[in-house]
Amino acid sequence: MIKVLKDGYNGRMPETCCPSCFTILDAVTSLDGKNAPKTGDYTICIACANLMRFDENMQLVSASLMDIPVEHRLNFAQGVQAVKTMRGL
Ligand SMILES: [Zn+2]
Repeated sequence: MIKVLKDGYNGRMPETCCPSCFTILDAVTSLDGKNAPKTGDYTICIACANLMRFDENMQLVSASLMDIPVEHRLNFAQGVQAVKTMRGL
């Protein structure tokens, strides 16, 4: 069952793939739990922990931690580590 959030966003996105591991991705979870991703947003691959950004076509491109605004870097670093731990990477 797909959870529908307050603004109607259900976490689904058009299929795209991780540029690192090529896993097909079709869903995303927002840190605030209510907003769909938009161009320039960052995310983490649930399969390989690759840090990525949505480009102008809402495709995923690899990103560096240094690309992320400083006030969010620690959250993303912790997110990458959490996925690596969960996946045994
Ligand atoms: Zn990946």
